[in-house]
Amino acid sequence: MRLELHRFEMPLRNVFTISRGSMSTQETVIVELHHDGESGLGEAPRSSYYGHTAESISSSLESIADDLAGYEFTTPEALWSWAQRRLAHDYFALSALDQAAHDLYGKLQQTTVFARQGLSWTNVPSSSVTVSIASIEAMVRELEGYAGWPIIKVKLGTPNDLEIMQALRQNSDAILRVDANCAWTVEETIRNSVELAKLGVEFIEQPLPADAPIAAKREVFEESALPIVADESCQKEDDVRQCDGLFHGVNIKLCKCGGLTPAFRMLAEAKSRGLLTMTGCMIESEVAISAAAQLGPLLDFVDLDGAVLLARQPANGVKVELGTIHPPQDFGCGVTLDSTLA
Ligand SMILES: [Mg+2]
Repeated sequence: MRLELHRFEMPLRNVFTISRGSMSTQETVIVELHHDGESGLGEAPRSSYYGHTAESISSSLESIADDLAGYEFTTPEALWSWAQRRLAHDYFALSALDQAAHDLYGKLQQTTVFARQGLSWTNVPSSSVTVSIASIEAMVRELEGYAGWPIIKVKLGTPNDLEIMQALRQNSDAILRVDANCAWTVEETIRNSVELAKLGVEFIEQPLPADAPIAAKREVFEESALPIVADESCQKEDDVRQCDGLFHGVNIKLCKCGGLTPAFRMLAEAKSRGLLTMTGCMIESEVAISAAAQLGPLLDFVDLDGAVLLARQPANGVKVELGTIHPPQDFGCGVTLDSTLA
């Protein structure tokens, strides 16, 4: 198998701000995995929270390129086990490689990734689109720009979170969700949950820091007026078990867990434990969005607006329009690279 790496700096439509900081461009690494006359695509973007740069992701992947040249490809799952031992320090790189392996395998077998899992494209929930932190007036303007989207996710973690939500509620009938990105205390979360429930908010994503004490997470789990979904607290496979009894649901993202192979296993485990299931994304191109969309039939909540937030991106894949996730139009993950779009 031959690895080819592409790096892109993708401009965002608007500055994107969460409780930890702002960004106006996103750097991403796209992996092209060549084998038997076909090629598959995968992606991992930079993330300062998780400590990965385009440089570090590229060098992790380059470090296994020679070994991969002699590797006998059978299935994406076998490749994941092989690669996990070599990329245990870099799950973003592992995720990009695994997405590419699933895309490649589907193209070779002439099937989509979700169909290979025995799934059909039914009951795929609509995706939210994200309004990030700004002045209340600017957040209302951004919300108005998303007229027609049925679900809006709002980034919080400011001194005036409830005021923001009251203003947004007055200006929209959409389903509202909030994501505090670790910025709240136990008391704030419980108090906010009561007020947000009155505004019809659907759930709260990751109110407490990922490393908050178990007793704090349990108190929020038991006292919150709204369901609590783990994001930063649910990264890898073992975390699903750890979240059971401390969260009502888990937000599984490919780059956190190391790709589609573990994501399918995590969703099965979450469902068997009665946890709500969600898949989210980073700000990333249609390469990673097309891969994550394959999980769609297994999800209660979807947040796959990553490519929607970009002004330009280098791929042609699964489209998310006014919340609707269109079914993949091609085998594998249903995505092709088109550098002229970048
Ligand atoms: Mg989140």
